[in-house]
Amino acid sequence: MEEQLFIEGLKENNLEKLKKVSKADIHNHIGLGMRFDTFNQYVGGKLKKPPRKINGLKGLDEYIFNESVIHIKNGKDIDFLIEASVKEAIEDHITILEASIDCHDLLYYKNPNELFQSIKKIQNKYKDQIDFRPELGMPKNITDDRLDSLLIPCIDSGIYQSLDLYGDEDINDFNRFKTYYQYARQKGLKLKVHAGEFHDAKNVLDAIKILEVDEIQHGIGAITDDEALNLIRDKGIRLNLAISSNFILGAIPNIKKHPIRTLYDKGIKITINTDDLLLFDQSVSEEFLLLYRHQLFDEYELNEIRLNGLL
Ligand SMILES: [Zn+2]
Repeated sequence: MEEQLFIEGLKENNLEKLKKVSKADIHNHIGLGMRFDTFNQYVGGKLKKPPRKINGLKGLDEYIFNESVIHIKNGKDIDFLIEASVKEAIEDHITILEASIDCHDLLYYKNPNELFQSIKKIQNKYKDQIDFRPELGMPKNITDDRLDSLLIPCIDSGIYQSLDLYGDEDINDFNRFKTYYQYARQKGLKLKVHAGEFHDAKNVLDAIKILEVDEIQHGIGAITDDEALNLIRDKGIRLNLAISSNFILGAIPNIKKHPIRTLYDKGIKITINTDDLLLFDQSVSEEFLLLYRHQLFDEYELNEIRLNGLL
């Protein structure tokens, strides 16, 4: 039934039909997980609209730190961001949401338990509509102090179901995070990392070999290297892609040139995700439609990719 509706939605260019079908969003950063208007309204219209094209991760950070983060002052604001992102996902009938909450968000609360309770409360409030799986996130420039004072208590809280690392790809020191990844694994967290977004296959290979991740956020840089592609496929590592994000940030020249088709043909498991809805303004349903319109996949293949996220 859902498959039928999904296929019709694509063929008829009917977003409303696609929105009724279960989907997953596995690559989502909660601070930017809602539409621009939702956050802008919350901050009284003071948010500057993100540009249509952004200059890589540097441009992304510029917007985040100069325009968005300045409006976040306390735990209530973080609570709002989490709930707004969950509600936004429900709006697109996302039934599994793995969204990262940065460990630095803990600094907005007097007591770490306030954040953990808040996440739990939101999870429970919407549990009939969505399986919200909080993900623990950290930027690559996190200090050693904070790895111990913020990341570890978050891992120990039992609230988070996966771990992700993001930020400047020029910081390629995955070894610094190895023991933390091992610790998270011991505690039952699924392991993810941002790699191969702008950088090449070596970045992806390093991430796989050093951090022993289950999934990679982006990973498109692997496309140039057969060893990396085979390793991803043979280890069953899922690539959680974000097409509009890659285009807007300039990682690919146009949608047609996205390596997603080659990754799929290689037998690699891929999913379609929003990354940062506030910046890229494309829901998961809209991303599926985009791929269909660019004739990168037929409707049956896209349905198979949709189901990859729901496993
Ligand atoms: Zn991301």
